[in-house]
Amino acid sequence: MDRRKAADVSLTNVLFDTVASEASRYRSGIGQRPQRPEHTYPDALAAFAAPTPEAGTPAEDVIHDLVQRASPGLHATTGPRFFGWVIGASHPVGVAADWLTSAWGQNAGNHTASPAAAAAETVSAGWLLDLLDLPREASVGFVTGATVANFVCLAAARSEVLRRAGWDVERSGLFGAPPIHVLIGDEAHTTVFSALQFLGLGSGRVIRIEADSQGRMRPDAFARALARCQGPAIVITQAGHLNTGAFDDHSVFVPQARAQGAWVHVDGAFGLWARACPARAHLGAGIEGADSWATDGHKWLQTPYDCGYAMVRDADAHRRAMTSAASYLPGIGEGERDPSHYVPELSRRARGFATWAMLRHLGREGVARMVEEHCLLAQRLAERLAGEPGIRIVNDVVLNQVIVRFGPDEPVADGDGLTLRTIRRIQEDATLFAGGAKWQGEWVMRLSVISAATTQADIDRSAEAILTAWRDVRSSG
Ligand SMILES: *Cc1c(COP(=O)(O)O)cnc(C)c1O
Repeated sequence: MDRRKAADVSLTNVLFDTVASEASRYRSGIGQRPQRPEHTYPDALAAFAAPTPEAGTPAEDVIHDLVQRASPGLHATTGPRFFGWVIGASHPVGVAADWLTSAWGQNAGNHTASPAAAAAETVSAGWLLDLLDLPREASVGFVTGATVANFVCLAAARSEVLRRAGWDVERSGLFGAPPIHVLIGDEAHTTVFSALQFLGLGSGRVIRIEADSQGRMRPDAFARALARCQGPAIVITQAGHLNTGAFDDHSVFVPQARAQGAWVHVDGAFGLWARACPARAHLGAGIEGADSWATDGHKWLQTPYDCGYAMVRDADAHRRAMTSAASYLPGIGEGERDPSHYVPELSRRARGFATWAMLRHLGREGVARMVEEHCLLAQRLAERLAGEPGIRIVNDVVLNQVIVRFGPDEPVADGDGLTLRTIRRIQEDATLFAGGAKWQGEWVMRLSVISAATTQADIDRSAEAILTAWRDVRSSG
């Protein structure tokens, strides 16, 4: 080896070793770290701000500097008492597989560029369909998250409902196409409306179906709206509401929609995983009859960011909506898979490795156990809080989500004030992290139990911290 090559090798070794030990240090101390960032965004910006670098900086200094500047602005989302939004914990096994993914530097666009990346996706796709008990013939696109999974699935839906009406949307676009009716619950996740916006279906021209107190579409309102739809139609349902964890009643909606020739798409970003857990699978009954399903790896499966899955029963519609062909790209033979045929991107990260690693590590039993444990912990937390005067659990805790109102018997504005002050107090104390959400006109605190790091002791400690914050707010008037 010449001197230059030897220097490169030792630099790589030093960098990778440094990063590995820094990451271990960070993760092993995560439980002791406050459950909130020390830096606000302006602080973090000040930590990074600098003129455009003119000269280079030695590699080790760059990495050291990155750690110094970023650390105070990191949110301990992988910590055991993080209950904000719906965020998984980037399990160490997934992270380790993801490090290799980066180090291997594979382009998972096609199977020639990386046979291993394509194969890991093919095998993981089969495992996912099996665990979630979805049609085994469905095709799976490995995307960045449920937002893009919703987009991909709805692109397939758009393609197929228009093809049946004699229109080739891939070639001819939407101008002059038969109109598509889109039925969606009034409490659907905001990212589904984004997907509709990207697809030219419009976030505002949809038919919104009235929802009940848990955010589920009302069956009577749904049936009435569906009966009025003539021609191409897409129905969008939800498995696991962001606030309540509630599921639309798929055993009712799916057969009705399909009888009318509508495509049914399910947004199941985290809730779809209930189907991998025998004790909760009843929540998702009938979902297998739908046409497409979006879910995340980076929520309940605990893969690192970013990772989601777009699953489509009609693999031809899926490919039609996503495929770009070019002469310099290799063709595919019988039984071969090019991952890019099922996603918008060509060059892309090999997400199959982390997915494969997490599924292999947890196994069917491990996934089921984790999901059930989180649901039981959510119930425990809700029960601990519900016993306290002035606290109301707003949702039926059927899954892992809990929403809490402080001062529920006060006038709305006062209850909002008490709820927001309690949330602020909890965030300042930083024993746990939870955020606020507006639910059906009133502020609530939302708790999502979805981290593989969370134990029963963390739940009990968090309940105590919430009760203490509430008592302080209440007594300070
Ligand atoms: C998180 C979530 C999404 C969006 O998923 P991303 O992974 O953030 O893109 C969509 N729908 C629901 C119900 C969600 O919880």
